Amino acid sequence: MSFSKLKFGSTIGIIGGGQLGKMMAQSAQKMGYKVIVLDPDNACPCQYVAHEFIHANYDDQEALNQLGELSDVITYEFENISSKQLQSLVSQYNIPQGYEAIQTLQDRLIEKQSLQKAQTQIANFIQLTEPKDLSIAIEQIGYPFIVKTRFGGYDGKGQILVKDQSYLDEAEVLISKQECVAEQFLDLHKEVSLTVTIGKDNQITYFPLQENEHQNQILFKTIVPARTDKEQEARSEVKKIIEHIHFVGTFTVEFFIDTQNNLYVNEIAPRPHNSGHYSIEACDYSQFDTHILAITGQKLPERIQLLKPSIMMNLLGRDLDILEDQFSNHPEWHVHIYGKNVRKPDRKMGHLTVLTDDINETEQLLLNKFEGRHN
Ligand code: ADP
Ligand code: MG
Repeated sequence: MSFSKLKFGSTIGIIGGGQLGKMMAQSAQKMGYKVIVLDPDNACPCQYVAHEFIHANYDDQEALNQLGELSDVITYEFENISSKQLQSLVSQYNIPQGYEAIQTLQDRLIEKQSLQKAQTQIANFIQLTEPKDLSIAIEQIGYPFIVKTRFGGYDGKGQILVKDQSYLDEAEVLISKQECVAEQFLDLHKEVSLTVTIGKDNQITYFPLQENEHQNQILFKTIVPARTDKEQEARSEVKKIIEHIHFVGTFTVEFFIDTQNNLYVNEIAPRPHNSGHYSIEACDYSQFDTHILAITGQKLPERIQLLKPSIMMNLLGRDLDILEDQFSNHPEWHVHIYGKNVRKPDRKMGHLTVLTDDINETEQLLLNKFEGRHN
């Protein structure tokens, strides 16, 4: 596998053309690369900014090979592509990220077992192969616990919080359809995440620790720097993880901090992450810039500078409904609209980032603006 610097004018192939693919493409183009994207959605956000578009399903082997033939390097914007197909592509084409990280992280059970092997602190969990395994969860973890599908979950989809026995029927239905894991439900004080890029010769670059708030399990806002003293501890956890999982490019580790101020690793996204979007305006390099530098074999900046504290808020369909008329009055809002042509209340349609010297005041002003959102 070649890992020397990719020349300007070379082509980067991206599997997946959502907003992450689009923002990757924008960084790649700034640096002089061409972009080809493969996506099953004819109207995906990235295809409007890509040089070429392959309209195909993610498991269409012929289309994946076509992407391989046309690209000098391949990357992906999400983790739910088949690791087997990725493995076969890795043997034929230049894919510096490899397939192992995806293979580990697309299965919550294997992910948790790897985190355990790496000796990171994680919430207690057990495997749920069939509905009757719930009795083991009740015995070994106890209420409340959260049932999560092994495969394919995102934004809280495929999860049931089992507060007491009245939720067992619902959990049984889920487990009878798909294998799951049960995980201790923690009493959370805060959620934080750390975005990291690994480049050539295993160079590591960390973004500042990000503080995240979710609503209905979808990221609502990110504040940077995180208002906690856990940054060094989070970096130490990441160091343990990268000894066990081989990463190249940008990835994000999500953490929980419980009310006792203990830090737990939640999950890892092997790609740029929603909680790193603020870096486009608030840092000297964005998480997409460093990702492209990494996969094109270039040196990374040694340290990422946060230019100013910042707040990123997601714009779901329900938020756009109440806020879009106000954008023109707020030049301090860096508004990103992804270009999805169907608006749905819970669909991520865009985000906005505000750089500020007074996080608390700006947070309050923004919350007032988002107040009308109907959950
Ligand atoms: P997804 O893949 O959907 O992002 P997560 O496991 O990150 O799944 O869960 C989504 C959100 O649900 C978390 O960010 C957190 O707010 C909440 N959550 C998940 N697991 C737990 C837990 N064990 N304890 C407390 N809250 C949790
Ligand atoms: Mg998550």
